[in-house]
Amino acid sequence: MKKFYLILVALLIFGGGALACTTGRIDKVVVDKKTAVLPDTETKIPIIMYHYVRVVDAKKDPLGYNLSINPPDFEKQMKYLKDQGYTTIHLADLIDGKVPKKAIVLSFDDGLEDFYTTALPILQKYGFTASDAVITGMIGAHEHMTDEQIRGSIKAGIEITSHTIKHLDLPKQTAAEIKKQLVESKNYLEKTFGLTVVGFIYPSGKFNDAVVQALKDAGYKIAATTQYGEADLAKNKMLLLPRVRIDNRDGYNGFVKKLEVVAK
Ligand SMILES: [Zn+2]
Repeated sequence: MKKFYLILVALLIFGGGALACTTGRIDKVVVDKKTAVLPDTETKIPIIMYHYVRVVDAKKDPLGYNLSINPPDFEKQMKYLKDQGYTTIHLADLIDGKVPKKAIVLSFDDGLEDFYTTALPILQKYGFTASDAVITGMIGAHEHMTDEQIRGSIKAGIEITSHTIKHLDLPKQTAAEIKKQLVESKNYLEKTFGLTVVGFIYPSGKFNDAVVQALKDAGYKIAATTQYGEADLAKNKMLLLPRVRIDNRDGYNGFVKKLEVVAK
């Protein structure tokens, strides 16, 4: 009996020591991995906001002019990003709070047709990706992408996010309507195109606490406003990321200037 007791004690001591060694090794690996990843990532990233990529007469349609970028200027902007060594990523890539250095998100609002016909070929020329916020109730409507064009964009690696069903001023809606706009647009995009949608763009940048809570409840992980600035994933809330608006008033030079300021 005494012999068995001694063996049991010996086993406990040996076993405990082995466990301690294993735990020590695992801790060391975790620390090494963390320090190895840190130098190549950061938390700040510009999220560019575009609408139309088309030619508009400023005198005939001043509002449309301010919502658009001329295709030649857009191409020059993409060339600048390429020459400067930028990497384009999706909004969904921001969820873990770290992004590669010199990363940028090119976000397009409203699911417009000229994204597919004009912007996408230019993006592909430079090997870039982008993120398009689709208003599900406007798919196939005047100036908006059709189902097929959205499918083509997805095939080209474009991220699709929700921009609600009807582009309503969300803070002015009832709780039931807000929920409907957020949940049904997400479900529609996921079922129709076989996606997982985690990103959201607030229509006209309008939000309040109730809208942000409804976004969380609907399962969105990341969302952007129209507030101006570079996004800092360590400081900004993931559902309230600011963006850098670019249109014809910026042109090529304004784009470069804004990027140089935010990327300091
Ligand atoms: Zn919009």
